Amino acid sequence: MLVILHPNTDENANEFQQTWHYLNELPNIEVRKHHVKGEQQTLTEIYLIGDTAKLNRDFIATLPAVERVIKISEAYRVLGRHSDKMRHVGFDYNGIRFSQDNLHVFAGLCAVDTPEHVELMMRALKENGQQCTRMGAYKPRTNPYSFQGHGKACLPYVFELAGKYDIKVIAMEVTHENHVNEILECLEQTGHPTGVMLQVGTRNTQNFELLKAIGRQQELPVLLKRGFGITLDESLNAAEYLASEGNANVIFCLRGMKTSFGEPHRNMVDFTHVPVLKRLTRMPVCIDPSHSVGSREKSPDGLLDLFHATAQGVIAGANMVLVDFHPEPSKALVDGPQALLMEELPLFLEDVRITRAAYEKRCRLIKKGSE
Ligand code: PEP
Ligand code: MN
Repeated sequence: MLVILHPNTDENANEFQQTWHYLNELPNIEVRKHHVKGEQQTLTEIYLIGDTAKLNRDFIATLPAVERVIKISEAYRVLGRHSDKMRHVGFDYNGIRFSQDNLHVFAGLCAVDTPEHVELMMRALKENGQQCTRMGAYKPRTNPYSFQGHGKACLPYVFELAGKYDIKVIAMEVTHENHVNEILECLEQTGHPTGVMLQVGTRNTQNFELLKAIGRQQELPVLLKRGFGITLDESLNAAEYLASEGNANVIFCLRGMKTSFGEPHRNMVDFTHVPVLKRLTRMPVCIDPSHSVGSREKSPDGLLDLFHATAQGVIAGANMVLVDFHPEPSKALVDGPQALLMEELPLFLEDVRITRAAYEKRCRLIKKGSE
């Protein structure tokens, strides 16, 4: 059961104390408090875990600090929707709103290689009105002898260049909790010129200790990739690990499933799950066409498979697109063959806009039909 308190409830006030005391005295019930911090207000949610069947929900709803009480299913306690239309969806980070109602493109380098390439990328993004990017500093590689990313050495110039070109959020994968500290320290040392969204890659979706460590910090939001060989339910439970530790600012990313049935694509594109995720959870949904498709193959209509896959996710209502670009793909140290070219950036963004407009038109049509 979930008890939602009135917005901005002061925990020193009598109303809160009485409510908290009552809930804590309930037999065989574990009480867990969770804060949802928005720009305007903070919501306090209290989860009642255990033998809740016999609880008097109507009485709990009358406790002084309580706004409403929701019955929740076992799965995805914090991140699930639980058939409650009023549940808070999305979050704000570094001046950018992430929700299930809007869309941001995170175009950038799969792996940071040189400061020159980082600058070319950031400049192109600014010229095209973008405020978000992806920049890989810590790369999980299949082969131990492959380039593993520049790690913390590249963070100062990546952050400073982001600041120079007004980039507000960088999606950056971490594979160890030390990386989170290195990022936080470098943001501090460089004076927070930008923000970072921590990315958990598909190889770490079920690295529970990493998820717990990332969930314990609440400064940086998280982009969690779907595990490439596990069920959707297992990946959503992984997301819940982050939330249960205290960080519910999570975006869920579809990136294709590992199976030879997806060939000739690198993975089996799974973007039909965008609406499923929005129905089941409160998380904004990201698609990663680059790691799904994995090549620059083109269909006879002239559009790259990468463009087609992106459109499929966007027309299904995706809220974020994570996509690899590179100024000189032949020199890229990771995933060059799937990178889009700088001159394709305006085209790509226009294609996304057209598709998003079509999605919004579809939503209006359905709304009108049901009025
Ligand atoms: C990436 O986005 O750079 C990446 C390694 O993706 P994934 O974890 O989906 O393979
Ligand atoms: Mn990659």
